[in-house]
Amino acid sequence: MSNTNYEYIMCRYGELSTKGKNRRNFTNQLLRNIKGQLKQFEALTYKTTYDRLYINLNGEDGLAVSEELRHVFGLSSFSLAIKTERDLDIIAEKALDLIRMEEGATFKVFARRHDKTFEHNSDTINRHVASKILQNTNLKVDVHNPDISVIVEIRGDTSYIMMGKILGAQGYPVGIQGKVMLMLSGGIDSPVAAHLMMKRGVRLEFVHFASPPYTSAQAQKKVLDLAKELGKYQNDIRVHIIPFTDIQLEINEKVPESYSITMMRRFMLRIANQLAEKKNCLAIANGESLGQVASQTLESMNSITAINDGLPILRPLITYDKIEIINLAKKIGTYETSILPFEDCCTIFTPKNPVTKPKRDKIDRFESYFDVDTLISEAIDNVEVVDFRYHEEEEEESFL
Ligand code: ATP
Ligand code: MG
Repeated sequence: MSNTNYEYIMCRYGELSTKGKNRRNFTNQLLRNIKGQLKQFEALTYKTTYDRLYINLNGEDGLAVSEELRHVFGLSSFSLAIKTERDLDIIAEKALDLIRMEEGATFKVFARRHDKTFEHNSDTINRHVASKILQNTNLKVDVHNPDISVIVEIRGDTSYIMMGKILGAQGYPVGIQGKVMLMLSGGIDSPVAAHLMMKRGVRLEFVHFASPPYTSAQAQKKVLDLAKELGKYQNDIRVHIIPFTDIQLEINEKVPESYSITMMRRFMLRIANQLAEKKNCLAIANGESLGQVASQTLESMNSITAINDGLPILRPLITYDKIEIINLAKKIGTYETSILPFEDCCTIFTPKNPVTKPKRDKIDRFESYFDVDTLISEAIDNVEVVDFRYHEEEEEESFL
């Protein structure tokens, strides 16, 4: 799509099955998210109507804006547009100007008359515009699979002319579903899980368990880089970094190696749960996938989650194959960072033969060796919070 001359972006809302107040929540949240994501384009102005959102470019680069807009959940598609009078000849003339800048050999005109007071029906508009293009270019009409779609919409006393649609990110606007605490590791899976949660309209906060000095500063930076990357989809990002070294060392000292992962994950879950409740999250999410590793067999999940009488645990990747997850990671832009070699806390303390069917009575016995509540509250008291805003280079660090 060529860039020149476009004045607007016309956005089409995504899965909008709701009406009334819910519909307003959807469009208000979407508008807030879009404004946040496009903040660096200072001249933009916005207008929402019942079924469309219009971005007035006011001289900003339409293609650069489109590139960012593609990541915003809640849009089914959008188009660069020009606005013109409600006059058939002028519409045809402008459509001709625009199509001349496009590449392709075939076209089709898609006219829609939202305002029935316009004297020409869509069929007449289609034919008038098509014949103007046929007379003045070498382009041919292809009604089945056109290279260029010429879209004409008559709305009120104006008409919009667009060349094709850009696919939106689909889903619901981040924020309309409340907040979830996602367990973010440096692996491939959890950033993909985050993306899928956000796509359902969930606002995320992240919790990461770090075990310095066994985990390096680079490993931590990798996690923060992943979180930052996810800022493409949720403008403001918060990561809670939980100091986990003491707990891991104590597990290593007191628990047989084959049970260390089970114990560790029970601690992680308890901490995630408490932190999530403290931050008013409605659920926890993670990147687990059934059968992927010993701690993700159904038996393991059963005994690990048994501690949880708290929030629901959402596992968006539960049925995904690794290869599917990898493909998604590549698509959303987190894969390259995820495969950097820095070890995270699970990998360092990984036993050679973790249990795949942990026994409840053994878990209970091992756990009785710990002062669980104190360990958890100490970890939470010493959390480090890192905030990012997408497009802002410097991260702010604060301690709670
Ligand atoms: P991989 O992509 O290699 O599977 P992973 O991060 O998924 O990496 P797993 O051991 O499979 O690693 O962990 C399962 C899930 O547990 C992760 O998806 C993540 O949600 C959570 N998790 C694991 N380690 C951490 C950690 N250090 N901090 C926060 N969450 C973690
Ligand atoms: Mg995994």
